[in-house]
Amino acid sequence: MSLNRQQVMHDVLDRKPKLPKRPDNKISTYYGENVFNKFVMRSYLPDEAYEGILRAMDDGTPVDRKVADQTASAMKEWAISRGATHYTHWFQPLTGTTAEKHDSFIAPTGDGRAIEKFDGSLLVQQEPDASSFPSGGIRNTFEARGYTLWDPTSPAFVWGETLCIPTIFISYTGFALDNKTPLLKALSAIDTAATSVCQYFDKNITKVNASLGWEQEYFLVDKALFAARLDLSMTGRALFGAQPAKGQQLDDHYFGSIPQRISAFMKDFELEAHLLGIPVTTRHNEVAPNQFELAPVYEEANLANDHNLLLMELLEVVAQRHDFRVLLHEKPFGGLNGSGKHNNWSLSTNTGVNLLQPGKNPKSNMRFLTFFVNTLAALHTHADIVRASFAGVGNDHRLGAQEAPPAIISAFIGTQLSQLLDDLEVNIKHGKLTPADKTALKLEIGRIPEALLDNTDRNRTSPFAFTGNKFELRAVGSSANCALPMTVLNTIVAEQLEKFKVSVDKRISKGVGKDESILKELQVLIKQSKNIRFEGNGYGDEWLKEAKKRGLSNLKTTPEALTVWGRKEVIDLFDKMKVLHPAEMEARQEVEYEKYVMHRQIEANILIDMARNTILPAAISYQNFLLENIIGVEEVFGKKGKTMTFPQRDILTKTSTLVNELYEALSNLKENKIEVNGRKNHHKIADGYGTVIMPLIEELGDICTQLEGLIDNELWPLPKFHELLFTR
Ligand code: ADP
Ligand code: MG
Repeated sequence: MSLNRQQVMHDVLDRKPKLPKRPDNKISTYYGENVFNKFVMRSYLPDEAYEGILRAMDDGTPVDRKVADQTASAMKEWAISRGATHYTHWFQPLTGTTAEKHDSFIAPTGDGRAIEKFDGSLLVQQEPDASSFPSGGIRNTFEARGYTLWDPTSPAFVWGETLCIPTIFISYTGFALDNKTPLLKALSAIDTAATSVCQYFDKNITKVNASLGWEQEYFLVDKALFAARLDLSMTGRALFGAQPAKGQQLDDHYFGSIPQRISAFMKDFELEAHLLGIPVTTRHNEVAPNQFELAPVYEEANLANDHNLLLMELLEVVAQRHDFRVLLHEKPFGGLNGSGKHNNWSLSTNTGVNLLQPGKNPKSNMRFLTFFVNTLAALHTHADIVRASFAGVGNDHRLGAQEAPPAIISAFIGTQLSQLLDDLEVNIKHGKLTPADKTALKLEIGRIPEALLDNTDRNRTSPFAFTGNKFELRAVGSSANCALPMTVLNTIVAEQLEKFKVSVDKRISKGVGKDESILKELQVLIKQSKNIRFEGNGYGDEWLKEAKKRGLSNLKTTPEALTVWGRKEVIDLFDKMKVLHPAEMEARQEVEYEKYVMHRQIEANILIDMARNTILPAAISYQNFLLENIIGVEEVFGKKGKTMTFPQRDILTKTSTLVNELYEALSNLKENKIEVNGRKNHHKIADGYGTVIMPLIEELGDICTQLEGLIDNELWPLPKFHELLFTR
């Protein structure tokens, strides 16, 4: 069935906002209602079980069988009271999204009746048929078993009629098949390393949690217009399209007032998010028309990431309820702003201190400086791994496109802190510090809080910016699972802190005072990592040149970035830090190559389909229309008719030229696809899709766009950008 574009537009313009049935009471009265959180547990669990779970949540102590049984039984009772009939283990396979397999609570009793049953063994472990999830070869095909294991640190929740239990997903042999397992290991690594360094400053610090506050950008498009474009519905992005006459150049959408149909969607959506205990607070328009952003209050990283994944699903469900579709792709519309997901990251202690927050006295400033400088040093040493952590097919269109940071990794810390680090570096003294040196350095460090107060110049063009009390990794794509970037960031900082601890201890063991040892080591790191600091415009061409001079890498595309996972030093690092085994690394690299290839293959096939079956017929109809007109006019007016039909002939010539070009570009794309698909391995195929197929996809798309500019509006079969972006 082909949708008539005019009819679709007519229906869409008739839509009314659907106001949600919002409870009358305050948010605090229903917030987290669908979550089996600590508050609920306290009333549903016996004391001993409640304490067992708290220990598991806060310190990672394993849960014993009895506590698991008691928890399962309480969870079941609570979930049924919230309307649940089924339960599922909710996990994060390497596809990047989440997966679930629902089972009902029903257990037959043998006499024709049934009871609701859910015990500790069902809570703790499940065995979904794992054979169709990507594994990169870890799971032999004859051994398709994979296990999901309960993650008690992220609370279960009821969604619709299902009790969802967050779990990890591993193979029979114990290898991770998901994104959550390595994240949990990285969080444990940063906890150990940071806690140990904290001992220099405060013996009461026994636990350090990484925090994550993400900012999610997305587009909304009416569902009928979305359905009328095969490229949007199948690949998440428009593969071609003429720019709307009014795009984002007026900047009138950003922070503008939110249209009614959209604000009804947002209210409904926030209500659902709050019921699920996702603390969303911020909402606003983004730069492009129909582009929006939302952000929650930050949380512990594992929970924050589960919440982001849940929220992405929720966006889709609620959008459909309001006759919208949500676009999470990084670049749904060429020429317009893309979507990202800033990852705000910091470290907080069991004593309630943010380690990236300078304090009021020299000791807390030293602590701040220690974690701040070690983070910069880790970024400097492992910039390529950070780059690889946000590689993805959609992000390739966004990075470096004058709206998002380039693929070059650098850190922005603000002029004041830069000055401070520069001063500290220059003041390096060899040998023992004199009392005068110490005083000078103390004064230097004492300037930190004051420096930060002035740190208001927020450089938006940096991929990794320090923003007062947190670092903000801005290059992550809007559709990404934050688990990988967070795994990488926490792992590399953990490794750096371990190295730092060893060096400082060595100095101390030689009789140098603690403060002096720390300071000296910081000075070494400041000097070493200087190249990664960049305060200028990350979007400018000068930065490309400057970065090259500094020797910083610029891994522009996903296939280039994915080679990083195969480097020996990278494999060794993740192995040493016990985050990913070499076999797991290899498998992940394989899965990512495969994902990249599949996405580009789908894009090529969809474009071929649209060009051949939708655009070409429309162009030919238009040729016929012009021909008929030319013949008619010339028949009626004879010789004089020839001069009268000049415009029609001109447009006909242009259309025919483009039809020819389109046909040639089509065959070209098809032939090259055959060659690239025939290459030896995923790595080479991915390279081919990046360097050979992508330019051909763009070329064919460009011809379609030119035809859109030429063909009669009535005959053009697909919704245009301005219809997709300005209809609300
Ligand atoms: P902006 O758009 O200016 O970057 P937002 O207010 O949209 O700022 O987003 C800031 C994000 O950073 C929010 O998700 C917030 O919860 C998070 N955040 C604030 N402080 C911290 C912190 N100490 N650690 C981690 N995330 C934080
Ligand atoms: Mg931000």
